Amino acid sequence: MRAVARIDRGAIAHNTARLARAAEGAAVCAVVKSDGYGHGALTAGRAALDGGATWLAVAAAQEARELRAAGIDARLLVMGALDSEELAVALDADADVVAWSEEFLAALPSHARVHVKLDTGMGRLGTRDAALATRLAEAAGDRLAGLMTHFATADELDNPFMDEQLGRFRAWVDPLRERLPDAVVHAANSAATLRDPGTHFDMVRPGVAIYGMDPFGIDPFAHELEPALTLATSVLAVKDAAAGESAGYGRRFVAHEPTRLATLPIGYGDGWRRALTNNADVLIGGRRFPLVGTVSMDNITVDLGLDSGVRVGDEAVLIGAQGPERILAEEIARRLDTINYEVTCALTPRVVRN
Ligand SMILES: *Cc1c(COP(=O)(O)O)cnc(C)c1O
Repeated sequence: MRAVARIDRGAIAHNTARLARAAEGAAVCAVVKSDGYGHGALTAGRAALDGGATWLAVAAAQEARELRAAGIDARLLVMGALDSEELAVALDADADVVAWSEEFLAALPSHARVHVKLDTGMGRLGTRDAALATRLAEAAGDRLAGLMTHFATADELDNPFMDEQLGRFRAWVDPLRERLPDAVVHAANSAATLRDPGTHFDMVRPGVAIYGMDPFGIDPFAHELEPALTLATSVLAVKDAAAGESAGYGRRFVAHEPTRLATLPIGYGDGWRRALTNNADVLIGGRRFPLVGTVSMDNITVDLGLDSGVRVGDEAVLIGAQGPERILAEEIARRLDTINYEVTCALTPRVVRN
């Protein structure tokens, strides 16, 4: 079988409940953008709602449309910037949207629900002008649903910038929420939710931790999170390699002694990145074996050695646990010099999610 991503709904529900506990009474808005960080937005969204989330957030209007069309009836928040066509799609999906300009607010019909965003230091979306943000919140009238910001460095425990951002947010939102008590105040991503109750306000917006990945990039179990994704495939061929024989494009693996190679049907066309060439392990039969040679579009090769007992049809795990061994998305991220988020988001539609 080609690669499949098995999604553990129970783990997502568990992680959501774990974050809800951490958030101590604040609502949980589970972030399921980018197809639920590669896990499947609908699967992830349903599991997060089972675990106690009451809102789901996405980046794009189209993502909200798909969730609504599939029957999700929770509150939806589209966090991204929207052009007029996308705004119409978001509103048609009965999703809340985010505003930071007079023009955008002016274009919102009376039935819209809007969250005003202050840019306290992320430098991406939102206005840096607190006076403008206040005017927008007041002008929104009945359309006002929330007041928000987003942290740039919540995952960096020794960086004081999150506290600076929090200070700027509080200076804006504390007086405002007295006048606008119905607005839902929210700021925290996963890292902030786990590290600082002072960021929780009325609602938290965790993404990566919902999936059982560590927002600090090291060890999800240290935060009582359960990884939800197992990336598995099976051994499709086993062959002997004599000393001097090679595997894959460019002969980037040459056997220096007789060995046996397994071929697995996953490659960069599935999102198993080419930079993992000679740079990953695979679990087969509960043991780690090195990926050897170049990652091709559709296949990789694994060095089994001579005494593995591995046979065609055996299951191979690229992310997840098998027997006593486990490969975390965080391990793959380290090898690729990237973050766990990108490892699961990179999985292409060819990887069946089930
Ligand atoms: C992606 C995103 C989140 C979730 O962040 P995590 O680090 O995955 O928890 C929250 N808020 C906004 C605005 C986002 O873009």
